[in-house]
Amino acid sequence: MSPRSVLRFVEWTIGAPRGEAPQTTIVIRCLGPGCGEESEPSTSHITPDTWALQHAGKTGHTEFEEVARCRLVATPKEPR
Ligand SMILES: [Zn+2]
Repeated sequence: MSPRSVLRFVEWTIGAPRGEAPQTTIVIRCLGPGCGEESEPSTSHITPDTWALQHAGKTGHTEFEEVARCRLVATPKEPR
C-alpha cells in the first residue's frame, strides 16, 4: 500500500528583503464623511503631515488615517 499524500511542513519567515534596509512609505487618508482624499506616498512624515494640515484647513475635515507600507519578502526557514 502506497501513501496517498505526503505533507511537508516548512517554517517561513517574513521581513525586509535580504541586504536591504526596510523602507516604509507613508500615506495619510482623510476619514471625513464622503471624502477619502489622501496624500502622495512619501518616505518621510513631513509631506503627508503637511498635506493633512492643509486639507484640514481647506475642508474642516479633522480625522485622518495613517497607512504605512513596507515591502516584505517571505522565505522558507533553512533546515538545521
Ligand atoms: Zn477630507
